[in-house]
Amino acid sequence: MARIETPRRVRGTQDIFGEEQRRFAHVLATFERVRALYFFQRVDLPVFEDTQVFARSIGETTDVVSKEMYSFPDRGGDMLTLRPEFTAGIARAYLTEGWQQYAPLRLSTSGAVFRYERPQKGRYRQFHQIDAEVIGAAEPAADVELLVMADQLLRELGIDGVTLQLNTLGDAETREAWRDALVAHFAAHRGDLSEDSLKRLDKNPMRILDSKDPRDRPIADAAPDIDAYLTPAARGFFDAVTAGLDAAGVAWERNARLVRGLDYYRHTAFEFVTDRLGAQGTVLAGGRYDGLIGSLGGPETPGVGWAAGVERLAMLLIDLGKPLRTAAVVVEEDTPAMRALSRDIERILRGAEMPTVTFSEGNPKKRYDKAARLPVDYLINLTTDQITGQQVIRVKRRINDRYNTKGRIYSALKRLLRDRFHVDPKDWRRVAAHGGDVLLGPLPS
Ligand code: ATP
Ligand code: MG
Repeated sequence: MARIETPRRVRGTQDIFGEEQRRFAHVLATFERVRALYFFQRVDLPVFEDTQVFARSIGETTDVVSKEMYSFPDRGGDMLTLRPEFTAGIARAYLTEGWQQYAPLRLSTSGAVFRYERPQKGRYRQFHQIDAEVIGAAEPAADVELLVMADQLLRELGIDGVTLQLNTLGDAETREAWRDALVAHFAAHRGDLSEDSLKRLDKNPMRILDSKDPRDRPIADAAPDIDAYLTPAARGFFDAVTAGLDAAGVAWERNARLVRGLDYYRHTAFEFVTDRLGAQGTVLAGGRYDGLIGSLGGPETPGVGWAAGVERLAMLLIDLGKPLRTAAVVVEEDTPAMRALSRDIERILRGAEMPTVTFSEGNPKKRYDKAARLPVDYLINLTTDQITGQQVIRVKRRINDRYNTKGRIYSALKRLLRDRFHVDPKDWRRVAAHGGDVLLGPLPS
């Protein structure tokens, strides 16, 4: 008989499980808490959009649009793309859903995004981002607030060793003058540039500045900074952002080589970077995009925002803090009293915020083994002592009990025996046996 080949996980995708999932969920929960503290409201948007939404707002010349998008015609022949980021979809919704009336809007979202890239550590084809945007706010205070929020998020996650790198791309006038100066500089070194950068020279010369190709580096490093071209208004905007960060105690450093390739990016551009993730060192990135909504055909609307990779943040977590203690309750003896006791134990432990699962079905001999295979901290066994015929609650600790959870479990059990079963806890003996502590005593039948 022909063997059926088992399916494979698609390259660049992940099945997030166990400890990895715990870290992942912790990043998302922390983001949800922090964004609410800053009064950002959550939106949930489609996973796919018309391809044009991304092509027009991210820009045809970017890596994302030119080589990384998952695009396909659907059955009706519409050209669709799985979102490679959130900003474009948010801008589309802002226009199509009439959200202008709420401006300025502080929005946040999170979820899966898709890019056809070469998979490696910290780089996937389906990955996850958290995202925050302020739409309809032109003032530098919005940029500052987004950066302060990002800084707080990283601190609450306990992630340190991350540096905020900051740059300005100026206003339209600044940008044009600087662009001309860059083109002149790079054109003079045309012969020494990489092939990729030669292409960028025509379409997107600013991208040469952050090229990683060693042939481009010396030329990029010698390129003129934007500073000489900043208009007084652009200079004033940047000064207001840096003053706001200083006042909020957010450390930053200038990176005059940090650019975002698209024409509508204005003023603030930033990245939070670490050297702990090798080449994938950018954990959170964003900037101001005052021309984006206009480029989608909407009214000129300022905007600023950032996105961060959930997987990269999860990899940087060191301490998940005080872990939740978990318990499995095993009913080894199938009596009504035991079942009632197990339901009560389950209820009080859950009431004490302890995740609890009960094994009372199936083969009684196998229940304990099943429970023991789980990564729970406590195994609570309900059975009858073979010799004395007394009921037994055996509590077995399987982890290092730094927080004396066991003391809490015993107090809860004693209260339960007294209040619910009207048994004097003194009638129960506590002994050490079977590799755990055991409570022995009579249950009223
Ligand atoms: P990179 O330079 O690493 O390719 P990027 O400039 O393409 O990043 P953005 O578009 O700014 O990244 O996305 C924001 C964040 O999303 C990044 O800082 C990173 O944390 C994360 N990210 C980007 N691409 C991937 C990927 N393929 N897999 C996992 N995380 C990613
Ligand atoms: Mg990329």
